[in-house]
Amino acid sequence: MTYDRLLRDAATALSAAGIDNVRFEARLLLARAAGLSVEQLVAHGAEAAPAPVAAGLRALTARRVRREPMAYILGEREFWGLPFKVSPAVLVPRPDSETVIETVLALMPARAQPLRLLDLGVGSGCLLLTLLREYPNATGIGLDASEAALAVTEGNAQALGVAARARLVRGDWRLPDWEKALAGPFDLVVSNPPYIEASAIDRLMPEVARFEPREALDGGPDGLAAYHRIAAAAAALVAPGGHLVVEAGEGQAIEISRIFESAGLAVGSPRKDLSGIDRVVHAQQ
Ligand code: GLN
Repeated sequence: MTYDRLLRDAATALSAAGIDNVRFEARLLLARAAGLSVEQLVAHGAEAAPAPVAAGLRALTARRVRREPMAYILGEREFWGLPFKVSPAVLVPRPDSETVIETVLALMPARAQPLRLLDLGVGSGCLLLTLLREYPNATGIGLDASEAALAVTEGNAQALGVAARARLVRGDWRLPDWEKALAGPFDLVVSNPPYIEASAIDRLMPEVARFEPREALDGGPDGLAAYHRIAAAAAALVAPGGHLVVEAGEGQAIEISRIFESAGLAVGSPRKDLSGIDRVVHAQQ
């Protein structure tokens, strides 16, 4: 079978599973199975593919047909133009979360400062490690409750060349005095905390509901549990004049702003993502 034929068959199987962008995804899966770049594939389209490539593609396609996220199948996802390794221990980095980075860069335009950063629920590290790249003299702590997630963060910190400026700490904001181990305060605290209402998780798209780590999604009965914890610790964690910048779920920005105001923070207007949803809430100590 030719590469083109394998590509068509994979796209047909993905389409039957209700997936969009099937040509695009099939091409990425075939490139992975063949060990070629997508550009090389195009050049080889009419040639016969070796049998192991066909078998490899079938195995990868079967995973995607079960709605496993592409990022877990390929093992990486780009965020802010940087390659992040991912595993099912971490949330897949999303373009929405780039709004957190944009917000920070707008709030703190001086890039050379020796800032102290904290990322609560660091996961893949897409927020913290991107910020360490953008602020070359900053140092940062990444907190996560999951050891497996921190192993992914560490690998990404190494690969992105910022490991010497990142300290990763295991910790859980559901426990009392969790913020004490972090030795604040920080100039900037960022977080994309779990914010899905617990009862709504099973209704999310299967890629999310079945494969992404529940502890990174589950925001408790109203989705806001993590924001209450973060607000309660803000006095200890955010330095005077420092910033708190968090991602918000759709429709949550007003509630989160109220929670932060009640904790004595000065809250700014939310920043919208590319879909026009109020995606990021920022506040100052
Ligand atoms: N953005 C994710 C989603 O909508 C949720 C991430 C989170 O809970 N922080 O699927």
